[in-house]
Amino acid sequence: MDVFILAKNLFCFWSLMINLSETDAWLWRPDSIVGCTIRGAYQMLMRQEIHAGDVASDAPWHKNVPLKVSICAWRLICNRWLTKDNLMRRGVITNDNQLCISGCGQQETIDHLIIHCNIFGDLWKLIKSWVGVYSVDPHQVTDHFNQFIYSSGGYAPCRSFLHLIWLCCIWVIWNERNQRLFAKKANTMVQLLEKVKMYSLRWLKAKNVCFPFGYQASSCLFRDRLMFYFHL
Ligand SMILES: [Zn+2]
Repeated sequence: MDVFILAKNLFCFWSLMINLSETDAWLWRPDSIVGCTIRGAYQMLMRQEIHAGDVASDAPWHKNVPLKVSICAWRLICNRWLTKDNLMRRGVITNDNQLCISGCGQQETIDHLIIHCNIFGDLWKLIKSWVGVYSVDPHQVTDHFNQFIYSSGGYAPCRSFLHLIWLCCIWVIWNERNQRLFAKKANTMVQLLEKVKMYSLRWLKAKNVCFPFGYQASSCLFRDRLMFYFHL
């Protein structure tokens, strides 16, 4: 079995149970009573049983995206990013040290970092303008994923293209956040937009040896060629 598919399916069957009064725990969804067994895991993988409509099952995985990016997205959907609110809950940082690294003055949570931050949130405006979709951002990351990939209709190639861009954006935002926090260096949102373009092309080229297009910064030509690849 393809390693990517195997990893995807294994991650799909685990859920993170967060309980404010107890220690967080992982739940093996196919059998929450007996738990994970070799027999149960084998049967699940053979049946390719994916829970329809479960965002955690679908959002992180895209055939053109590197596994490290999918794992990063999977951790995001499960609220496992080491954002400051999560670090505070674990007692790593104090209550007065949980502000967003952008300087916006708000608490750093995954929903804030990805959607609501006045600084990082501007990347979505640039992205939407670039790909030509328009929508109002919802409150939660999972809703944001669903809304973004369907913002150009439900046509499968459209969803695939926007899915790739969404994963690329959250990868760029998380790395920018870490660079600002640990290296004290900041890119502008326009520079982050260029990174999204560059990474998406690299990922496509890595999986498609004959992919014929080059990177055209500051031009809608690149977007048009990407859309052509996805048969839009
Ligand atoms: Zn912020």
